[in-house]
Formats: sequence, structure tokens, C-alpha cells
Amino acid sequence: MRALALALAAVIAAALLLPAFYVTLMINVGLASLVGVGLVLLTGIGGQTSFGQAAFAGIGAYTTALLTLSFGWSPWLTLPVALALAGVAALLIGVVTMRLSGHYLALATIAWGTSAYVLMGTLPGLGGFNGLVDVPALPGLRGASRMMLVFVGVLVLAALVLVGNLLDSRQGRAIRALATGRLMAESMGVNTGLVSLGIFVIAALFAGLSGWLYAHVQGVVNPSPFNLGAGIEYLFMVIIGGAGSLAGAVFGAGVVLVLRDQLNDWLPRLLGQPGNFEGMVFAAAVILALQNMPQGLVPLLLRRRRLVETRIDVNAPALPSREGAGAALKVSGVTRRFGGLLANDAVSFTAQAGAITALIGPNGAGKSTMFNLIGGLLAPNSGEISLGGVRIDGLPSRRVARAGVARNFQHVRLLAERSVLENVALGAHRRGRAGMISAMLRLDRAEERALLAEASRQVARVGLSELLHSPAGDLALGQQRMVEIARALCLDPVLLLLDEPAAGLRLAEKQQLAGLLRSLRASGITVLLVEHDMDFVMGLADHVVVMEYGRVISAGSPSVVQADPKVMDAYLGGVVA
Ligand code: ADP
Ligand code: MG
Repeated sequence: MRALALALAAVIAAALLLPAFYVTLMINVGLASLVGVGLVLLTGIGGQTSFGQAAFAGIGAYTTALLTLSFGWSPWLTLPVALALAGVAALLIGVVTMRLSGHYLALATIAWGTSAYVLMGTLPGLGGFNGLVDVPALPGLRGASRMMLVFVGVLVLAALVLVGNLLDSRQGRAIRALATGRLMAESMGVNTGLVSLGIFVIAALFAGLSGWLYAHVQGVVNPSPFNLGAGIEYLFMVIIGGAGSLAGAVFGAGVVLVLRDQLNDWLPRLLGQPGNFEGMVFAAAVILALQNMPQGLVPLLLRRRRLVETRIDVNAPALPSREGAGAALKVSGVTRRFGGLLANDAVSFTAQAGAITALIGPNGAGKSTMFNLIGGLLAPNSGEISLGGVRIDGLPSRRVARAGVARNFQHVRLLAERSVLENVALGAHRRGRAGMISAMLRLDRAEERALLAEASRQVARVGLSELLHSPAGDLALGQQRMVEIARALCLDPVLLLLDEPAAGLRLAEKQQLAGLLRSLRASGITVLLVEHDMDFVMGLADHVVVMEYGRVISAGSPSVVQADPKVMDAYLGGVVA
């Protein structure tokens, strides 16, 4: 709140005191910042590169120019239409490209940016490449006036607050997982495609707003400020500012626009001939920036930003829970091939409800493959997997998660820079419902308190309360495994899948983990465990299933399995090999 009041005061002071030339420049910085805030969300945090944001701004600008000039609309009334059109365009492009991975999305935005430019220049009624002139000013806000600077400043601050709120929410945690943890997030029940689409649309709306304002500030609209080059420049601003920080959007816009203005003045004088040399300087600067300060300027100036310590409300109401109602997992005749390799060959076993079942076997036996088949990361070639009598094989992992299956990963998948609390809270994603709009408007606070309280309870359960606010990447491997277990518990699971949870744990930690798994069993949760530490497994499991070369070679109580000569063989063979 204080920061906001200060920023507002700074905007008003700038509007009152700056010479007219700088008022115009600052308005342009504000317009670029609006695009940049969306781009930080989309690219800097969401990891989806877009070169096409200028085209969305173009939609906003042309919509209002056309409606005011040709249809006599009031400029204020055109805003919802401009935003709706930018949003719908993003939705259509997003739906088509949502399934494409990173680079293809970037290419698709280049194609979009190029074709939108051509369309703006050639569609009848838009004035060709000369564009539309005499776009009316906003009533009460003359062109590049001091009042306009205040108005633009307020909008930029509002954008920063809205996106800041969004990032600090259930949806924000899902957004932060997009860049490096998609597969993990899906296993926590997040529909990552939908989340990507959401931020693509939000970024386009901010660009559309910027374009709408631009038309009324300039009074002229033509295609060139909305071409691919402009889209690249927006990306450049965000990179310079530090793609991961919201303030960086404003800062980067400021640096680039002031620099461009100065270079425009000085370069032709220095080089003794007229021309737009700043393009070359910018290109060189992008390369240098990416090589030397991949985090942008803002983090360099602020040093390493400390994570904000979210306060936990211990009195927050509990989330709805299944009360540990476990369900039996039944695997029948499941086969999975990788090319010619039979990773799982007609595997059948049952993990009883409320019991601990261990899946053991030498490396390459097919245990992780089985976990991925159960967890929905892979689909079986044949056979059936059911949980509590309901088939789950072939479902995408987020649906499996919603059915109550929670998991960790053999190779830990955490968001290293986010706090333990945030990582764990992602596990509770499907237990909340607040969408992006309610997050931006802070209508999600009651639910968010409950989610964070649940996450901190689960962190306490695995004994890591001391590290609640530490970046997960700073923890020892054993502790990171425990964070993954806490995250899985946040899902309120019916079935917990643990792939080598004791690997890298010290003896005391192993004992603690065994105690935790016993208490989960007592509460009725079904546990399926892959583990190499035989002392750990045999002291804990109710039922052991032994696999070798993709097949089940033995199953039964720990003592029965330990006495089975086939098992001795498999393990000795494994050791010799
Ligand atoms: P485990 O977890 O028991 O060590 P895995 O399930 O990881 O065994 O692997 C079983 C077999 O399947 C191994 O031979 C492995 O190389 C192979 N495999 C696993 N995943 C893949 C994959 N995605 N593509 C090709 N082969 C795979
Ligand atoms: Mg494995």
C-alpha cells in the first residue's frame, strides 16, 4: 500500500514538474509498460515467448479509431470492444498454439505479428499503410497532456497490482510452474494448457489497452507501430528490465525509450549521416544483455530479492478433505512397450486400501514405468488399472490426480527459486477453485489462507517447518524429497505413489519417513512405494511385489518374498551385472 501511494505521488509529481517533452516520453513509457507487464507474466514468468504483442496493441488502436471515426462512438465506449477483440484474437491463437511447445509458440507469434501487420495495412476501411488520422482525444484527456500522464500512470500501477495479485495466488503458483515444471504441475492436477491460455489472453488484454490508449494519445493510427519489429522491441524492454520482475517491465520500457530517443539524436551526428542506426545498437545490446545479465537489470540493481514471507493464518478453516479414505489399486495384465522393449509385460498386482505395498526389483525392471502408467504420464498398450473400482489407465495425469493419486518423482521436481511453502501449496491446487480474475481482484483471500494453512501443516508433518520460507533449491536432496512428499499430501490423496523416497536420506530422516508412512497407513491412505533400501522396505511394507525384466516374479509378505529363491537370483544377478 505504501509503495503504491509513493508511486502514485511520483507519477503526479512527474506530470506536474517535467518539461512537456518528457511528459510525452513518459506517456510512451507508460504505454509500453502496459504491454510489458503482460509480457513479464507471459514470457518472463510463464516461459512462453511472444513476438506478437504489438499486433494485439494494433487491434486495440484500430478498433477505437474505426469506431470513433466511422461510427461516431464515444472513445470510452470503444474500450470494452477493443479489449474483447484483442482477447478473442488471443483466445483463437492460443487455442491453436496451446498444444505447441515453446519454440513453436514463438514461431506462431511471429507469423501472427507479421500477418496482423499486413492485415492492418490492407483491410478496406483502415486507410492502408497511411492509416487513420484525426482520432478524437479522450474526453477530458487531451492527447499527450499532463492529465494523460497521470491517467496512464494510474493504469500502469493498476496493471502492476492486478498482475502482482495474480502471481500471489493459487493460479500464480500454477503460472510459475509453466516454465520448468509443466509435467509436475499436471501431476498435481493443474490444467497447464488452460493456465497458459489464460495468461496469453491476459497479456493480450494489456496490449489491447495500450493500443487503445495509443490511438487517443497520438490521434493517428497506422500499421508500423504494431509490426513485428515493435513486438521484438517490447520483448527487448522486458529482457532489459529483467523478464521475471514486474517492475522490470516499467524500468525496461523507460531505459529503451529514453535510450532510443537519445541514440536517435546522437548516432547520426556521430556517424555524420542521417539514418535509423539505433536498430543496430539495440540488436547488439540484446545480445550483450542476454550473455551477461540473463536476469535483466532490475535484479542486478536490487541484488538478490528475498522471498516474501507469506504469513500463515493458523486459524484458517480447513479445506474439504477425503478424510484419508483409501482405495485399492488394481493393476491387471498391464503391458507397455518402448519400441521393441517390453518395459512392463502383463503386470498384475493389487495394492490394498490402507496398506503399504512395495514394488522392488533391479534397475531397469520397469518400476518407474509402472508408476508413470498409474500416474497417467504414460498410457498402457494393453491391460487395465483401476482405483477403487474405477478405471484410471489412459487418463491424463491431471485427471488421475483429481481421482486422488498423488506422487513424488524419482528425480525431484521442485521450483528451486520458490519457497518450500509455495512448492507444497501447489499440491493443494485442485482443492481450491479461485480463477485468475478473482485472484487479480483479491476475491480469493479466504480460500488462499486455507490453502496456505494446509500447505504449512503438511510441511510440519514432514518436519520442515523451519525451512518453510527458504527457496526449495537451497535444501539438501533428502529434504527436497520430503518437500515432494508434503506436496503430494496436500493433494489429499487416496493413493500415494512414492518413487525411491528414501534415496539420499540420512538414517534419522529415514526413520522419520517410515514413521510418517505408518501414520498415513493408519489414516487409511493406500501407499505404493518403489525403494532400493531393503531394510527400509522390509520393515515397513505389508506386501511386496518383485519385478524383473518387466515381469512380476514374486509377490507376498516381506518374509515370503525374502525367502523366494527367484528373488535372491534376481538381486544377485543384478549385483553381478
Ligand atoms: P526401473 O524404474 O525399474 O529402474 P524403468 O521403468 O525406468 O525401470 O525402465 C524399464 C525399462 O524401460 C528400461 O530398460 C528403460 O531403459 C526402458 N525405458 C523406460 N522409459 C523409457 C522411455 N521413455 N523410452 C524408452 N525406453 C524406456
Ligand atoms: Mg526407476
